[in-house]
Parts: sequence; C-alpha cells; structure tokens
Amino acid sequence: MRDKVPKIAVLGSINMDIVIKCMNLPAPGETITARSALEIPGGKGANQAVSASRAGGQVAMIGRLGDDGYSEKLWNTLNHDQISTEHVIRTHESASGIAIVAVEDSGENAIMVVPGANGQVTPKDVDQAAATIGAADILLLQLEIPIDAVERAICIAADADVPVILDPAPIMNTLSDTLIGADVICPNQAEAAALAGHPVDTIEAAIAAVPLLHQRGAKQVIITLGRMGTIVSDGKSIESIPPFQVAAKDTTAAGDAFAGALAVRLGQNASLIDAAVFASAAGAIAATRVGAQPAMPRRDEIKRLVQQ
Ligand code: ADP
Repeated sequence: MRDKVPKIAVLGSINMDIVIKCMNLPAPGETITARSALEIPGGKGANQAVSASRAGGQVAMIGRLGDDGYSEKLWNTLNHDQISTEHVIRTHESASGIAIVAVEDSGENAIMVVPGANGQVTPKDVDQAAATIGAADILLLQLEIPIDAVERAICIAADADVPVILDPAPIMNTLSDTLIGADVICPNQAEAAALAGHPVDTIEAAIAAVPLLHQRGAKQVIITLGRMGTIVSDGKSIESIPPFQVAAKDTTAAGDAFAGALAVRLGQNASLIDAAVFASAAGAIAATRVGAQPAMPRRDEIKRLVQQ
C-alpha cells in the first residue's frame, strides 16, 4: 500500500548560508585570506521544509524573503523541492536572511546570522496562511522568526485541531505557555539543557530533564542527543531510541532532517515512537553528508535504513 502523502505547513526562516573555509578563524581586527566561499540555501524553516518534502510530505512554506539577489535563488530552491511558496512574502524594505558561516580546518566555526526578512514575519502574515495551516496534517515550527508570529500559528492550529511540532531552536531559557504547549516539542541537547536548567550530556541526564519539561507544560517531548540517539516521552512513559550506526561526516542539519521527517510520519498517523525512529534514520543519513539542504535524505533511503 502506498503511504499517505501528509500535508505539512512549515512556518520559519529562509536564509542563504555563506560558508567560508579558512585555515584559522580571524582574530578581532585581523584580515585573512580564506580558501573558499560557497552559497548554500539554509535557515531552519527552509531546511525542515526540504526534509519534510523529501521524506514524503506535501509541504507549504510560510515566511519571508527579501528584495535582493538571494531571494530569487532561495525561492527557486524551494520550488525545486516541490515546496509551495504561495505564502512566502517578498519584503521590499529588507534583504533576505543570511548566515555567514566561517569554518576553520580544525572544524571550529564562527557564525553570524542576519535575520533580514525573517525578522519581519508578523502574526498578520500567519493569518493570511490560516487556511493552509488549518488544512494541514501537521504544523512544523522553530524559533528563528519573531515569537508572536510563531504563537499565532499555534493558536490557529489549535482552533483547527492540527497537531503542532515545535523545534525550540535557537536556544531559549524559557518558553511561553503557548510555545511549550505545542503537541510535540523536540529540543536537542543544548536546548533541553537550557529548558531543564541542568546539563544534558548523557542519556540519564536527558531522561531526568523530561519530567521538568512536562512540569512546564510540555505534552510530548523528544530530546535528540546526536550520536547518543533520542529520548521520547508521551507524558506517560519514556523510551530511549538507539542511534542508527552511520559514519558521520557533518552533523550540521541532522536536527532539521529529524524534525521534517518526524512531521511526515506523524502526519501519516504513526505513533510517536515509530515517527521518532523514522526521524532518527533521517537524522543519521543527514549526518553522513555535508551541508544542510543538500544533506536531506529521500523517503526511500530513510525506509531502507529503518528496515535494516
Ligand atoms: P541538532 O542538529 O539539532 O543538534 P542532533 O545532533 O541531536 O540534532 O541530531 C538529531 C538526530 O539525528 C539524533 O537524535 C539522531 O537520531 C540523529 N543523529 C545525529 N547525529 C548522528 C550520528 N552521528 N549518528 C547517528 N545518528 C545521528
């Protein structure tokens, strides 16, 4: 039987990542000659939209691009992955979001993000996409755009009984009741640590963080622990999912691959555990490839790894 193609609405950031490779990161005041510069489409929202589309979802992106040379490229990239851009607004007063990512030979990096048009997303933009959110099987959110817009989306989804997944990245120490009340919240180690108020560097520490997140209002919690695997809690029991064994090369967008694939499987009415296993396989495959969007795996590859 063919899998259902779930409708996934993704509200979030769209960036151009400018990745500069250099021998050593420059010190303040220093000018260096770098090895190379690459433009790679990114932004957590767009990365997760690409992941969900390749994992088998019918995806609508909600967000903003600017009025510059990057906007056309970023728009085309989304369309190339069959992602609807009907609710991506072009902002004339702003440039598109960019991230300058400098990576030195040791692997150490330094990143500057200029939100640009992402910072201009408003609750009104979200209202304009209300019908798309209401018709979705899953709404997928992160925190790289203004929080009031994210909260509005959660309210629209709640009114329409659409389940919401929130990836609480970038890190925040506290989340409003609306944000923490998303149906599934999926922090990584650092985000879980910030929310729980204690380090989350072992599986035991992640399990200890879960009740604290539930006490704060989280309904279902998934903590992603990189190569240590994943912790899943539906509020009644906590399970640990071991990682898929892969030769990791670049874990940059493993979490985004995970979130997009999770949305697809939950949108196909899979259980939280089944969906987290599928998402773990997507994260593991992404970790074997360089870059963010180019690393996102397709449904067949994910299924093959799950069945191994
Ligand atoms: P983030 O990119 O947000 O920090 P993680 O690094 O926790 O997210 O990765 C998300 C998920 O991807 C993990 O829970 C795990 O299932 C999978 N994953 C990430 N890195 C690896 C790895 N090296 N080996 C196997 N699976 C991995």
